[in-house]
Amino acid sequence: MFEKVLIANRGEVALRIHRACREMGIRTVAVHSEADANAMHVRLADEAVCIGPARSADSYLNKPAIISAAVITGADAIHPGFGFLSENADFAEMVEKHGITFIGPTVDQMRLMGDKITARKAAKEAGLPITEGSPALESVEDAKSWAEKIGYPIIIKAKDGGGGKGMKIAYSDGDIEEAFTMAKAEAKASFPSDVVYMEKYLQHPRHIEMQVLADKYGNVVHLGERDCSIQRNNQKVIEECPSPALNQSQRHEIGEIVRKAIAKIGYCNAGTLEFLYENGKFYFMEMNTRLQVEHPITEAITGIDIVKEQIRIASGAHLGYTQEDIQFNGHAIECRINAEDPATFIPCPGKITEWHAPGGLGVRVDSEIYSGYTIPPFYDSMIAKLIVHANTRNAALMRLRRALEEFVIMGVKTTIPLHQEIISQPEYLDGQYDIHWLENFMKSIQNKE
Ligand code: ADP
Repeated sequence: MFEKVLIANRGEVALRIHRACREMGIRTVAVHSEADANAMHVRLADEAVCIGPARSADSYLNKPAIISAAVITGADAIHPGFGFLSENADFAEMVEKHGITFIGPTVDQMRLMGDKITARKAAKEAGLPITEGSPALESVEDAKSWAEKIGYPIIIKAKDGGGGKGMKIAYSDGDIEEAFTMAKAEAKASFPSDVVYMEKYLQHPRHIEMQVLADKYGNVVHLGERDCSIQRNNQKVIEECPSPALNQSQRHEIGEIVRKAIAKIGYCNAGTLEFLYENGKFYFMEMNTRLQVEHPITEAITGIDIVKEQIRIASGAHLGYTQEDIQFNGHAIECRINAEDPATFIPCPGKITEWHAPGGLGVRVDSEIYSGYTIPPFYDSMIAKLIVHANTRNAALMRLRRALEEFVIMGVKTTIPLHQEIISQPEYLDGQYDIHWLENFMKSIQNKE
């Protein structure tokens, strides 16, 4: 087992990784920007190294600075968390070249899944259901002829895309030129390559993803699904598991397809396969080769600590359990709480003057915030994740309602009122929502005002 792990991240996920290491008897190294010297994980880690100025490009994305910090402190592994360098294969390669273990899959697997075109090909070959799609598009004419083959509507995406950027929908021949040109321009501005491709656009899908764990010896389990359909701007807002849309046999069926595919690809460590789900069918969208923000809901219903499993697997341990050993208990829901104006979503950094997190049975709060902490303006605005777990979906909803009521955050605006509003809507209570539900709901309240 590793003796010392460097945490190449910030915020609640850095604290999450520190906690897992601590419970495994592993020493931790925090790295931080000048703006994060007072962060909770920096205070708790065994050692801390400042790696640069506030700007992410100069600190949390600064590969040589992070690797130097690992070498100087003698860390034997690096956990990248999510975001920042977590899906950067070049970084993982540099880490491994320095004789340090990257806690994640292999560099080749990261490259394969990081490119949407090669990922789709691998997924299809491994037997995963997938939308119809094109190879790389050469020209507007090429795009038109593929769109006719696939059938409108279609969505054009960047091969290196992420964060919902660079995607354009076309409903007919007349939209293609603009969609193609704009997707390519956005890709050029945001990603290493401006190559784009297209796939069938589904109009009312849910976003359902499957969590997997695989060791280096070909053992694979799935930990069930998460329904992440409550989204705004392609960003998840509330997640729950199990999905209200699936029954036990559908879960088992997609679980087995995923398990076989992961074994065939030879993937190793934790990973998430994201699907769109419409009219009873799954369509593979992408695979995230890292920890997900919403992993705690899966931990709640399976009792498995996914971060510890990532560390164990990276150190060469056997999974040590099979699919039959995985039990799914009850229902879990997560709310992502952001320091934002709940009506405009404008970030609201600043000093937390008062902080009281809810507690009690089945309530988990993952956050780096403490009373007196100042949220820096340079990073993502998520400041806490509230996770509730109960025997049934109804009980989880009641628990979520009371936990949101107990939460006190003063000094900055947060999205707590939005969460309270969402979870009191009849469609949400009935589990009747697709990926567009939240945006339509937001529009309907704005119209009323
Ligand atoms: P990114 O990597 O930028 O996050 P994804 O490919 O994961 O992009 O897609 C992000 C979101 O865009 C999905 O959660 C879904 O809401 C929407 N989306 C993507 N592909 C399709 C599609 N084929 N049909 C309908 N919606 C889609």
